Amino acid sequence: MLITKEQIFERAKQSQLWAGNLIAGYQNHTAKLKNYTPIDNSLIGYIADGSAQDVHAAVNVARSTFQEGSWSGLSPQERKQVMLRWAQLIEKHSEELAALDCVDAGKPITECLNTDLPATIETFYWYAEAIDKLFGKIAPTGNQEMGLIVHEPIGVVGAVLPWNFPAQMFAWKVAPALAVGNSVIVKPAELTSLSAYRLVELAYEAGIPKGALSLVCGLGEKVGEALGRHPDVDMVSFTGSTEVGRLFLKYSAESNLKEIVLECGGKSPQVVFEDADIDAAIPHIMAAAFWNMSENCSCGSRLIVHENIKKPLLEKLTKAVASWQVGNPMDAAVSIGPMIEQAHFEKVKSFLDSTIKEGGKLVVGGKVRSDLGSGWYIEPTIFDAVTPEMSLFRHEVFGPILAVTSFKTDDEAVTLANDTHYGLAASFYSQNIHRVMNIARRINAGTVSVNGFSEGNITTPFGGFRQSGFGGKDNGLEAFEQYTQTKVIWLINH
Ligand code: NAD
Repeated sequence: MLITKEQIFERAKQSQLWAGNLIAGYQNHTAKLKNYTPIDNSLIGYIADGSAQDVHAAVNVARSTFQEGSWSGLSPQERKQVMLRWAQLIEKHSEELAALDCVDAGKPITECLNTDLPATIETFYWYAEAIDKLFGKIAPTGNQEMGLIVHEPIGVVGAVLPWNFPAQMFAWKVAPALAVGNSVIVKPAELTSLSAYRLVELAYEAGIPKGALSLVCGLGEKVGEALGRHPDVDMVSFTGSTEVGRLFLKYSAESNLKEIVLECGGKSPQVVFEDADIDAAIPHIMAAAFWNMSENCSCGSRLIVHENIKKPLLEKLTKAVASWQVGNPMDAAVSIGPMIEQAHFEKVKSFLDSTIKEGGKLVVGGKVRSDLGSGWYIEPTIFDAVTPEMSLFRHEVFGPILAVTSFKTDDEAVTLANDTHYGLAASFYSQNIHRVMNIARRINAGTVSVNGFSEGNITTPFGGFRQSGFGGKDNGLEAFEQYTQTKVIWLINH
């Protein structure tokens, strides 16, 4: 039965939304956690308060399923058919999934419907279609031997997800990991587990064996840590903060040296050179800075602009900010919803005060909209005169505050852009091809977009340099490298 967004909003009002553990053959009596929406801080339902015991049960069933081969032993063509059915079901239920992400994360419904879910669906189709087109290699040997280089699934994979793009991050990890034949255990963020629960239910409906895909909901310190430390998990693919990413390296080091892939935070620069087409750049700069309330790992939170064009650029940005409506994200006209939770709201808000104290100049915004819902709404805000010493320049805010710094020379622009511990994404604007070629190479980031803001698309690998993460990439055919291991089979002719 198809469920409309209005029905999800109504169920949220009645506190009826639920995300539980899904572990084949395991009767768990897990306690529940209350689930509040950031929209107005009302109770929308419950999620399972998973435990280390639940993780252990999920790992056992994942391992036995991997060994017995009901998923890992299928041919790529067979897995592809099931994955395609799953993609079709997700497409069919996309309105329901979009509405779940909207109420769970406070994301604007228009973006959930028009961006997150289409990207999620495309990811599932793309990996389903790709899986029977992957080839191994043969080494250049003499006639007496043959070296086959083959890629095999790793085994039991943990996918630990953040809350900012719940359905999409699920897709980025789970689609390639399952497509190559692994057994996958998903740990969604405790703040946003609803769409993950439905996606796993739809996977079972499509025919993915239950043992090949489990869901364990609950707190990071309980479920996430148990997964990170479990001796029979072969790898964890993690997306989240750099701080928690470090913990996963520790869990691995102190347990079974499981492989860890980290996709972490960022403090991405947007550089505008004097020769940029400013009018064309404005919508991109705005999207990079404020899309998804700036709760976006690749958020272009530092605007580095040539001093000669700063004034007109800031005037145009100030006008553009006015068209980004702050309000209830269930309203189709709204672009800026609430911060995800109170603690995060307080952290973002603290940058409003500290930036003024440290010498930043408020250009536009700067106010908390305590009159709206939960009160965790912050206007899109721009601060000028931000220097590299200031905390707004250095820290990932994950909220709608853009830091503006000006430069005189190209070298200075590159130095400022690279003056960060992160290296996830960057964008820059120039109409001079020589400058474009030069600067694109000198900026230290996993994705550098020119004359626009982009994370690439499903065909291109996504991931960062430095403290933005390492170990593998999401998206593109490169994602398969995360979830496979390379084996050499050496044939000798006597
Ligand atoms: P987070 O690190 O707080 O949480 C991420 C996941 O880790 C959640 O599932 C959480 O439950 C779990 N976790 C939390 N504490 C844990 C612990 N002690 N042990 C084990 N697991 C634990 O991140 P978040 O706040 O959900 O997401 C925001 C962060 O994610 C930002 O830093 C953002 O830049 C990053 N992010 C990165 C990418 C990327 O592709 N590079 C994409 C989206 C988000």
